[in-house]
Amino acid sequence: MPAVFSKIDLHSHSKASDGALSPSELVQRALDRGLTHLALTDHDTVLGIKEAKEAAEGRLELIPGAELSTMWNGYQIHIVGLFIDIESQSLTKYLEGQKVFREERARQIGAKLERQGFANAYEECRRRAADGASITRGNYARYIVEMGRAQDTNEAFNYYLKKGKSCYVKTQWPDISVACDAIKSSGGIAVLAHPRRYEMTNTKLRELMEYFKSCGGEAMEVGCSQMSQNDLNYMTSLCKKYDFMASLGSDFHNEGPFRELGLGLSVPKDLKKVWDCPQALSYHFPEVS
Ligand code: AMP
Ligand code: MN
Ligand code: MN
Ligand code: MN
Repeated sequence: MPAVFSKIDLHSHSKASDGALSPSELVQRALDRGLTHLALTDHDTVLGIKEAKEAAEGRLELIPGAELSTMWNGYQIHIVGLFIDIESQSLTKYLEGQKVFREERARQIGAKLERQGFANAYEECRRRAADGASITRGNYARYIVEMGRAQDTNEAFNYYLKKGKSCYVKTQWPDISVACDAIKSSGGIAVLAHPRRYEMTNTKLRELMEYFKSCGGEAMEVGCSQMSQNDLNYMTSLCKKYDFMASLGSDFHNEGPFRELGLGLSVPKDLKKVWDCPQALSYHFPEVS
C-alpha cells in the first residue's frame, strides 16, 4: 500500500524554536516534497514567519502559526494557533511574556546539564538555534544526542529531561483559556495539537476537549504522524462529538525516521476542515480535499 501523503501540512518547526532547519530551508523542503500549503508553528514564537513567508512567496502558501504551551490538570497541552496576525498587539504581548519565561527556564535547564558534565550547555544550544529563538527541551535533547550522551532524542528525555530526571525543571505554563484568547484576539483559530500524545485516558481526553471547547477552541488535529487507524477513527469520532474542525500536521522538527512533512497525514472526508473556515480564504486551499 502506498504511504498516505498530504500536500497540506499545518504543524511544523524551524530554528526559531526546536526545529533543525532555518525557515527558508524548511520551506524548500516542503517544496521539494510537493507541498502546496505549510503552516510554520514554532513553540511560543512567530520569529521565523517573516523569513518563511518570503521564501514561500509565489511558490507555496505559508500559513502563519504558533504552538503555545499551556497547562491543564498537570498535563502540558499544546495549542496551535493558525491564520494568526503576527503583528497583533495582544498576541505579541503574550509571546513576550512567554519569551521571558522560556529564557529563564532554558537557563535553569542548562545549569542542571552543566552539573551533568555538559559544558556551556545553554550557550551551545542557543548557538545552534536562530537568534532570539524559543529554546525548548527539544533543543537540549538534540544537543545531548550530538554530544554522544544519548542514542536519540527520546533517550535524552528518558535520561535527563523528563519529569523526575536530573535536568527537569518544573514549569507552570499559562492556562488553555489564556492561550486561546491570545490566538483568537489575533484573528486566528485555536487548534488542539496532537491529542493522542498526552498519555491520558480517553475519559481525561474528553474532559480536556470539553474544556478546550469552553475556552473558544475551534479545531483539533485529527491527522498526525505515526497514528494508528484505531486512533484516527477515535479522533474522528471526537472531532464530530465536539463539533471541531479537523486539522492535520506532521509536527516535523528534523530529518529522521519518524516524522516528515506531509507524510502519513489524512483527514476523513466527512469532517469539517480547518482550511474551509473564513480565515483560510486568502490562502487558496483546494475546494475538494
Ligand atoms: P518544552 O516545551 O521545552 O517542554 O519541550 C517540548 C518539546 O520537546 C516538544 O515540542 C518536542 O519537540 C520535544 N519532546 C518532548 N518529548 C519528547 C520525547 N519523548 N522525545 C523527543 N522529543 C520530545
Ligand atoms: Mn518541539
Ligand atoms: Mn507539541
Ligand atoms: Mn510541534
